Amino acid sequence: MEEQLRERIQAVEARIAAACERAGRDRSEVQVIAVTKYVSLETTGKAIRLGLNHIGENRWQDVQPKWEAYADEATWHFIGHLQTNKVKDVVGKFAYIHSLDRLSLAAELEKKAASRGLTIPCFIQLNISGEDTKYGLPPEQLFDFVKRIAAMPSLRIEGLMTMAPYETDAEATRPIFRGLREWRDRLNEEGHLGYEVKGLSMGMSGDFEVAIEEGATWVRLGTVLVGKES
Ligand SMILES: *Cc1c(COP(=O)(O)O)cnc(C)c1O
Repeated sequence: MEEQLRERIQAVEARIAAACERAGRDRSEVQVIAVTKYVSLETTGKAIRLGLNHIGENRWQDVQPKWEAYADEATWHFIGHLQTNKVKDVVGKFAYIHSLDRLSLAAELEKKAASRGLTIPCFIQLNISGEDTKYGLPPEQLFDFVKRIAAMPSLRIEGLMTMAPYETDAEATRPIFRGLREWRDRLNEEGHLGYEVKGLSMGMSGDFEVAIEEGATWVRLGTVLVGKES
């Protein structure tokens, strides 16, 4: 079990290093979030002990026991759709929110963070593919959105996040990831936030190498890295 996990981690690491090499990027520019939503508390603990200290989950109900067991041993990333009435559960526990996609959510995060004196690093989730089954802000609304965010002092925009459609050929996801990078660059040119935004949270098990080639700074890896149980 543990040996298998160790081997998976090594295999993914080699693939990340090779993608960085192809893209002329330094390995230190890409961070890995281990997505543990498909695995048990025990496997999550093993993953953390093997050095995967950024953990991603998308439902508070599911992650709660894991968070309670390992809160201080990892940095926690909320990567899934966040309902406004669940904001109270995640503020103060998750270091990063990857799914900021609407003003009502921003306002609630701001309120809860401010009342606790916290600053929350967030990624704005864009729906680059335009699929109506995907969450995310339509990209053409990004600049108006960040103008409003700029007035929320407890939110700090780390970058942009997207999910590519599932493709059997990972290469087909490239325009989505390139599109996210271009929106980030445009965001910086427009300067509405008053600071530079560097982060690109993109790439999952099936497409992370392409995402890295296109500039990902955080890849969110579940199945390929920690496996899928039950
Ligand atoms: C589940 C999930 C992942 C990881 O999925 P895998 O394909 O198993 O790597 C990444 N990002 C988000 C937002 C997810 O919900």
